[in-house]
Amino acid sequence: MQQPKKIMLVGAGLAGSLLTVFLARLGYNVQVVESRADSRRVGYKGGRSINLALSHRGIRALRAVGLDQAVLAESVPMRGRMMHSPTGQLTYLPYSQRADEYINSISRARLNEILLSAAEKEQGVSIHFQEACTKADFTAGKVWTTCPENDTIEWQADVILGTDGANSAIRKAMREACGDSFTEHTEWESHGYKELAILPDEGGNFRMEKNALHIWARQTYMMIALPNFDGTFTCTLFMPLEGENSFAELQNQQAVEAFFAEHFADVLPLMPDLYEQWQQNPIGHLGTLRCSTYVYDERAALLGDAAHAVVPFYGQGMNASFEDCLCLYEALQRHQHDWRKALQHYNQERHPNSHAIATLAQENFIEMRDHVANPIFVRKRRLELALEQLYPDYFSKYALVTFHPEVPYTEAHRRGNAQDAL
Ligand code: FAD
Repeated sequence: MQQPKKIMLVGAGLAGSLLTVFLARLGYNVQVVESRADSRRVGYKGGRSINLALSHRGIRALRAVGLDQAVLAESVPMRGRMMHSPTGQLTYLPYSQRADEYINSISRARLNEILLSAAEKEQGVSIHFQEACTKADFTAGKVWTTCPENDTIEWQADVILGTDGANSAIRKAMREACGDSFTEHTEWESHGYKELAILPDEGGNFRMEKNALHIWARQTYMMIALPNFDGTFTCTLFMPLEGENSFAELQNQQAVEAFFAEHFADVLPLMPDLYEQWQQNPIGHLGTLRCSTYVYDERAALLGDAAHAVVPFYGQGMNASFEDCLCLYEALQRHQHDWRKALQHYNQERHPNSHAIATLAQENFIEMRDHVANPIFVRKRRLELALEQLYPDYFSKYALVTFHPEVPYTEAHRRGNAQDAL
């Protein structure tokens, strides 16, 4: 089977830059267009989640191209949850009793830069920054982009891959190509999120336990904090957009500081500039995207958030996106570069699994904000940890999803929920 000569990849975020490495390793010429400027030159202008939890599914994909160690070297291990009660009391629960089962906090910007630099080192790769895709025609193999000077460029390719995130232009082209047979639906959360930073102390040290994911679970809202490599923490407050205890209620300095004093008393002294941050940092919106297919003949595919944006409550969106890239890489090898078969394989494998992680993430939001502070949840976690010590083949639902990439998300969902019910 002759390999297509040219791949056009739209979006050099986390999935796009890793996928470029995979495709280049298979010998393809990959042209990449990315709407943002190159963050390695102008600094990162992200707009959402400063850091991310990387776990075994993502690490496995990175390992397949030898990038896992470079990434892990710049991440902070988080070995358990540190729960903060309203009175500032701390309860620590390890994620697992097994030594290698923990999650890793990594800067989104740094991870993207490591992957971009790795992609650029490969033969046959060219990355064009500040080129935003506006339109694509899969049958003609054409993609159109515009740059800040407003020039439109027309690109030609044999295969078009969309890794351009939740507002994907390539998904729009998929809708146009497939007609009525293509459906997509985004379920928006009534909660939004805001990021806030805790700076290190005068000596540059972390101000809370560094090897943990911190959680302030308050039932209808919650805050989490992940450590960064530079001694800071990024806190993310998830709250209803409207109604009681919502963003809408917190409109001035007095209201914000009083709210923190009442509900997050131990954080307030660690954020002397709370209100400046509050004003500067926008409220992000959260949604779950499900669409009916990720592929079009042998011509085009969607990967990552472009195919299946999920809410961040299992810390799996990027991990699942990296699994997409690995799946397509393996499918191309298995089907000897027959793109029609490889894309069918990719779609059949990833579609049900992406739906499963989307549902798991929605369910976990309820568990995190409602149950983590609940004594029954704490006892359940302790029971799970005891079972892990006693039985080498017992895995909690969290462990199945997070630490066991050999178990597909669909199976982790089925087994995990059956165990929870029991
Ligand atoms: P993106 O990262 O969105 O990348 C898309 C890229 O395409 C961007 O570079 C963008 O500039 C570019 N682009 C967009 N449109 C165009 C266009 N028209 N033309 C050219 N380029 C374009 N996941 C985890 O695994 N663990 C976590 O802990 C975690 N925490 C999260 C916390 C929050 C608050 C949020 C919102 C998400 C979190 N996620 C997490 C999910 C994770 O961020 C996404 O799943 C991941 O970024 C998906 O990668 P992607 O490459 O598909 O999309």
